[in-house]
Parts: sequence; structure tokens; C-alpha cells
Amino acid sequence: MIYMIEPDDELSDNWVFFEDDPNGLLVVREEYRDLACQCCGKIDENVAISRGPSPNFIVQANSDIIATSEGWICVSARFCEQINKLEFGGLRFVSLADSNFSIVMPDLLVETDESKAGFENHNQCASCGRFGERIIGPFIEGMRLPTSDFTFFASSIANENVKVSYYRFFVSELMVEAIRRLEFAGIDFAEAM
Ligand SMILES: [Zn+2]
Repeated sequence: MIYMIEPDDELSDNWVFFEDDPNGLLVVREEYRDLACQCCGKIDENVAISRGPSPNFIVQANSDIIATSEGWICVSARFCEQINKLEFGGLRFVSLADSNFSIVMPDLLVETDESKAGFENHNQCASCGRFGERIIGPFIEGMRLPTSDFTFFASSIANENVKVSYYRFFVSELMVEAIRRLEFAGIDFAEAM
């Protein structure tokens, strides 16, 4: 059995890549604005993260794991420390400048057969080719599962919501058991399809 990690809670109005402009409109953060597609407005999140998380993005939460408003996952210092101790591979943690939290990035992207992965694609951008939304999948059937039972993994094909692309993180049943023993606040697991 394979499970998907699901934070219980979402930060309200707290975005990795967006900020309010002086008129209160949500816009891409200034430090990433040059990355925005002129047509659909999406940015290359990997390039943005490689520039570093914005010092204005601060996470204050009592949970060990939480979703940002755009659906990215952030975890506490305790989560990073304990997971690193277990030596599970497949994740990379990018620390925020001003808090104990880190952004979770995939380190193992598994080959994915799009015809079997169950994605539903909507509104492809004529300029950058990204989808406005890429939802439902990835299904297990379309992914080449890792040979190790002890690694997080994500599909090589990212999901898209109207704001950003994002990854879903998968784990084995053995990992779920080990992670549950650590009693992280705010973590849940859903059976992967
Ligand atoms: Zn575009």
C-alpha cells in the first residue's frame, strides 16, 4: 500500500510566492516577478526557490506540517531533524530565513506514464505550455515506484493549481508506521489511488 502525505491544516493568506500589492491585490512577490509568464502569470517555482525563500514569507504554526495557501508543504525543524535521523531519502528541506520552518521539495521524482497517471488537464497556456490546472492524478498505476521502501517520492509530472505547480509526496506503509511513531502534529496520510 502507498500513502500520500496530507497536512491537516492550511495557512490562511500565507503564500510562498505571492504578496499583496498596495491595493490589496495578490501578486507575485517582487523578487520573483521577472519569472512570471506574460500570458498566464505562472512562475518557474524551482528557479524561484533556488533564489531563496522570501524573507517576508514567515510561518508561525503549532503544527509540524502545514500547507501554504498555494498548497506547498512546510515542516517544522523537529520534523526535518527526526526525518533526517531516520535517513529516509527523497525529500529536500529549504529553510526559511526567519523561522523554524522549511519548505519541502522533492528529491526523488519517479518516471511517470502520463497515459496511466489519471491527470485531468485544463487551460493550457499558449505561451509557456503549462496547464492552468492539472489535477486528480498522479495515480500509482502510472508511476514507476522506487525500489526502496524507505524513500519519499513524487511524480516527475507535477500537479498544477491556478497559482502554482506543486508535488504530492508518497510513502510506503512501513514509512507511515515509522512516521506515526514520531507523533508529528498536523500530519495525515491518505491511501493513494
Ligand atoms: Zn504561461
